Amino acid sequence: MTRTITARLSLIFLILSPVLFISAGCSSERQVLADTVIVNARVCTVNAADPWAEAVAVRDGRILAVGSTIDISRRKGKATKVIDAGGRLVLPGIADSHVHFVSGSSNLAVIDLAGAKTVEEVQSRIRTYAQADPQAAWIEGRGWMYPVFPGNMPHKKFLDEIVSDRPAYMRCADGHSSWVNSKALALAGISRETKDPEDGRIVRDEKGEPTGALLESAAHLVSKLIPEPTAEERLAAIRQGLKEAARMGVVRVHGLGGEFEDLDLFERLYKEGALTVRMTIAMWVDAPGPTDNAWKAYDDARARCHDEWLAVDGIKLMLDGVIDSGTGAMLDPYEGQKENKGKLFWEPEDYKKAVAAFNARGLQVSTHSIGDAAIRLSLDAYEEGRRAAGDPDVRNKIEHAEDIAASDIARFGRLGVIASFQPLHANPDPAWIGGWIKNAGPEREQRAFAWKAVLDTGGHLAFGSDWPVVTISPWPGIQVAVTRQDLEGRPEGGWLPQYKVSLADAVHAYTMGGAYAMHREKDEGSIEAGKLADLILVSQNIFEVDPHKIAETKVLLTMVGGKIVHDTR
Ligand SMILES: [Zn+2]
Repeated sequence: MTRTITARLSLIFLILSPVLFISAGCSSERQVLADTVIVNARVCTVNAADPWAEAVAVRDGRILAVGSTIDISRRKGKATKVIDAGGRLVLPGIADSHVHFVSGSSNLAVIDLAGAKTVEEVQSRIRTYAQADPQAAWIEGRGWMYPVFPGNMPHKKFLDEIVSDRPAYMRCADGHSSWVNSKALALAGISRETKDPEDGRIVRDEKGEPTGALLESAAHLVSKLIPEPTAEERLAAIRQGLKEAARMGVVRVHGLGGEFEDLDLFERLYKEGALTVRMTIAMWVDAPGPTDNAWKAYDDARARCHDEWLAVDGIKLMLDGVIDSGTGAMLDPYEGQKENKGKLFWEPEDYKKAVAAFNARGLQVSTHSIGDAAIRLSLDAYEEGRRAAGDPDVRNKIEHAEDIAASDIARFGRLGVIASFQPLHANPDPAWIGGWIKNAGPEREQRAFAWKAVLDTGGHLAFGSDWPVVTISPWPGIQVAVTRQDLEGRPEGGWLPQYKVSLADAVHAYTMGGAYAMHREKDEGSIEAGKLADLILVSQNIFEVDPHKIAETKVLLTMVGGKIVHDTR
């Protein structure tokens, strides 16, 4: 036995020795050459075994080597493209764990009301747009927030003052409510006689007159009248959306609503070679659960799309509304609203059955659950469903998880449920969060957006934007995650500062955390030899600047699969 091994080793040595001899004769070891090298960088690898480096070599769309500038420069051949980072920060590309890519893209073309702090400011943006486009049949906008308006709700009169000749339709930043003018109400035939639709509410004044605020499904009464953009128009919008994502450093997204319905458009872009953001796309399923057609649609789509660029993977469910409008499902009534605990959008048994059926097929479930009652039901369903399925590695997610009951926090870690948070949703700017705090009341406020508590109890964090709810840019979100302050630095010390996460944890949740949540951690999420070459070069070292300036970060270069898809150096 020993003799045989020795003999084999000698043979191998004999075969290899000429190579060793030649190598030893060169000034440096022979190296596989790179297509691209990035040198003189501060590379934050998000690889715990080797967290910082100076340079990266890329070949055939993957990372060939990570190391010092001197080492990596040896990978340079005549045809190698050299990117001198000038000492700037390189990070893994951003993975956004919750987007609506089609509506985010389409919204790039409507009035942006995000960040408007007063009724006057909201009106002025709408007026400017309406005057500039007198031909537009509808005036559309999005991004307003409740606390901007008296009584935390918009009113038709503020729209009628500036747009009375055409219908106007303004979606709330959270996508759960809409605000319309009198013309739109009239077109939709909404009057004091109109009944509230199921899962929705027409807000009315003390005389029963609709005020122009439409909650949840009530918004469809008007939105269904707006002409749908054609497939070609949506495709054009997605092309703009891809540019916007690349500009912000986003290389991978989890599409959680709208993308599945437009899968053919993403497939077209992929075939053209124009897909520059990697897409994981979940299929949306409504109560009471999947139909045979839905299963078939899923299987067909999955059979076509399952690679590192475009993969249909998992299911999106929606269990409740939002706290800001009192529609999130709570264990106890909303503050000052004795009758209102919000409402679950699913019968609990139907929901549990659906989760179990998906997990039994090995499919990940991502559920929108915001109120503590919805979150608890998700955790219960995930616990039972996964166990019944024999504990497959499905990595079920809870989206938003804004107000977790104290006794449920540790269950995320224990059950391996991913907390998919959008840090910018916790922006403590009163114009953004005021309605949330008022509705939750003081006790429940104390457990708002408890990122660090979930992390400390062993939970996985995956960060994202919920674009178009907020910008797809991760930078303001990262700033809020580490400061718990609004972008002006309020409040002093941060809102519930015990839930701040470290910058390293925030970056992790926006890179590896997202890759893990999308089952992509073997190929993505960190800068390591062998992984896909998805990385970004940014304008400032966020680990060195004042944390209050992180939002100002600009992405100078975005590389996906070794290809530069955004470059403003
Ligand atoms: Zn969403």
